[in-house]
Amino acid sequence: MRTPIIAGNWKLNKTISEAVALTTALKASVADVNDVEIIVAPPFTALAAVNEVIAGSNVRLSAQDVYSEDTGAFTGEVSAPMLKDVGCEYVIIGHSERRQYFGETNESVNQKVKAALAHDLKPIICVGEQLEEREAGQTETIIENHVTGGIAGLSVTELLTCVIAYEPVWAIGTGKTATPTQAQEVHSFIRGLLTSVYSADVASQLCIQYGGSVKPENAAELMAQPDVDGALVGGASLEAESFAQIVKFG
Ligand code: PEP
Repeated sequence: MRTPIIAGNWKLNKTISEAVALTTALKASVADVNDVEIIVAPPFTALAAVNEVIAGSNVRLSAQDVYSEDTGAFTGEVSAPMLKDVGCEYVIIGHSERRQYFGETNESVNQKVKAALAHDLKPIICVGEQLEEREAGQTETIIENHVTGGIAGLSVTELLTCVIAYEPVWAIGTGKTATPTQAQEVHSFIRGLLTSVYSADVASQLCIQYGGSVKPENAAELMAQPDVDGALVGGASLEAESFAQIVKFG
């Protein structure tokens, strides 16, 4: 019922020529895939070039962040209309690295989500607990705050335009993946939250990705969980071969 969504977050990697080479190789490797939504999220500087490479293909374009205002005196920021203009369909919002290093809060995430939706961008909203929070038994409280804060005030139609990415911070870039059971527990918790805020029908339609050291070797078992609908992939998306293998997890 829910189409799996596999997204590659390239973070602070790839010059324009490197991005074009990676995308060209990826496009060829996944050309025959028609049952997965495939997304790449290059750095801002490579968005235009990558958009040219993926034109007419089954690969979609995402940005890694967006600012909440459309225009104005906000030096260094990039707005939703600009991302739309360069060809983005998606935008990652509230990644744990943005929360950790750049002061992103649930409130700023919510403002960015609304700005993205106002310009027909699909937000990929990242949520996830840190190791100390998990060890202190606070995982569900943190996830509830991230999810309800991020989607506050959204209509059903707006919510269903979003993707939620559950990314335990302790699993990002560490090589330490959540077990399929750990991932399923939190994904099911998120779907339960959405059921209480919206309805079971709405919750059942929303795509919830898992992110945190997803690799070709562990993608299938994570994706086999009933509430895991895709993956947000960092390190393993920087090579066409490994990302294509994850895309073809089934
Ligand atoms: C990410 O950046 O969202 C991520 C999950 O990174 P990695 O796959 O490298 O853990």
